[in-house]
Amino acid sequence: MSFSSLGLSEQILKAITEQGYSDPSAIQKQAIPAVLQGKDVMAAAQTGTGKTAGFTLPMLEILAKGKKPRSNQVRALVLTPTRELAAQVGESVENYGKHLDLKSTIVYGGVKINPQMQRLRAGMDILIATPGRLLDLYSQNAVKFDDLEILVLDEADRMLDMGFIHDIKRIKALLPKTRQNLMFSATFSQQIRELAKGLVNNPVEISVTPPNSTVEKIRQWIIPVDKSRKAALLIKLIKQHNWFQVLVFSRTKHGANRLAKKLVGNGIPADAIHGDKRQNARLRALKDFKSGKAQVLVATDIAARGIDIEQLPHVVNFDLPHVSEDYVHRIGRTGRAGQDGEAISLVCADEFDQLVDIEHLIGELLERQVFEGFEPEQQLPETRLGMRKPKKIKRPKKPKKTNSDNNAQGNKQSQSRAEGDLKTKPKSRNRRAGSANHQKPTQNKRPVNRSKKHRDSNAAATKAKK
Ligand code: AMP
Repeated sequence: MSFSSLGLSEQILKAITEQGYSDPSAIQKQAIPAVLQGKDVMAAAQTGTGKTAGFTLPMLEILAKGKKPRSNQVRALVLTPTRELAAQVGESVENYGKHLDLKSTIVYGGVKINPQMQRLRAGMDILIATPGRLLDLYSQNAVKFDDLEILVLDEADRMLDMGFIHDIKRIKALLPKTRQNLMFSATFSQQIRELAKGLVNNPVEISVTPPNSTVEKIRQWIIPVDKSRKAALLIKLIKQHNWFQVLVFSRTKHGANRLAKKLVGNGIPADAIHGDKRQNARLRALKDFKSGKAQVLVATDIAARGIDIEQLPHVVNFDLPHVSEDYVHRIGRTGRAGQDGEAISLVCADEFDQLVDIEHLIGELLERQVFEGFEPEQQLPETRLGMRKPKKIKRPKKPKKTNSDNNAQGNKQSQSRAEGDLKTKPKSRNRRAGSANHQKPTQNKRPVNRSKKHRDSNAAATKAKK
């Protein structure tokens, strides 16, 4: 099937050719005709599947045929959880719509609101927004939705994870009842289905990856290691295997900074990317990483989400995520487009609970390898499937900052110990918990950083396409 058979106009097909795409991806084949028919769509698709073009191309096609927007009015609204994703969607809209006479702009918090208000005055065909700033703009009468035709919720699961549910409900209440709704999410969890009930009508359901499954081409394993020795082990692994393009996940911003510094201090070009960094710094870090100038990029989950880095060979979980779905998102960063990839998790005894939750979610036990010279003093208890049900994520009533930024990463290195080679010791599956080595793992707290400030201070430069 080619793009030309999907019902897209010459101008859009030209832009697609200029992008170098020859065939539509699986999600595009299914989503584009459905959207063009005016149907609501609910799609389970992760970043890397071509989902952005899946909704952007038909949306542009529909909008190009309609009336110009009235002042302050918006014809299509794309909600994204982070400014990075907003910027990427904005870029796609610009690229795919470059031969069309449509106006688009991006708005998010953390930057001055006045320029955004000015841009919206003329009205926009497409507005890409993070929820908090959008509500601020609405409360200042800078944006109106009387003529809204299309609503897109991108990475809806992430929006829920980040605590945007109330903002989404408030936004929904401001929109006209008759509109076309497109909802994209990495997985169709129960929560997502609940959200969808009030948002999409009789949707066409599309799923291009089985929900909550990890990609087969990815080789995943864990290295049990003491918390205090994780950084030294990571340095050892990178140097020994001469790894390039390593994406390392840190649970916290401070942890990401500290680790990047440590890597640089050990002669490994590295940078960190997280929500406290300015947009320019983030874009620079990403560019350096893509070009190979930075060998390692240390990222937090939120910052990494939505970032497209193709064919990444190595993903390292320096900390295990508290939300086990994040593990699936993280490792989805490797082994793209038919490439093999490997995802390695450095797991200390404190992370036992997270490990159990992750293995429960992916339905398999992760192979363990002990790295010689880094044998943990605090043993990571063995796991078995079905040990427990994953805990429900509790959202704090009042968003507040926690101090978890300060304790995510054991920082003290004991470099003096002997360091050696990777011992491949795949242990037998279905091991039983309760061996002599077991120590009671420390209970960790659940997710953090859901404050509005954090969510929508996710922001920076915007672009308006004339
Ligand atoms: P997304 O899943 O939307 O983040 O897209 C992932 C990457 O795939 C982006 O770099 C797109 O430019 C690229 N892409 C999207 N559609 C296609 C296509 N049909 N053929 C080749 N690349 C594509």
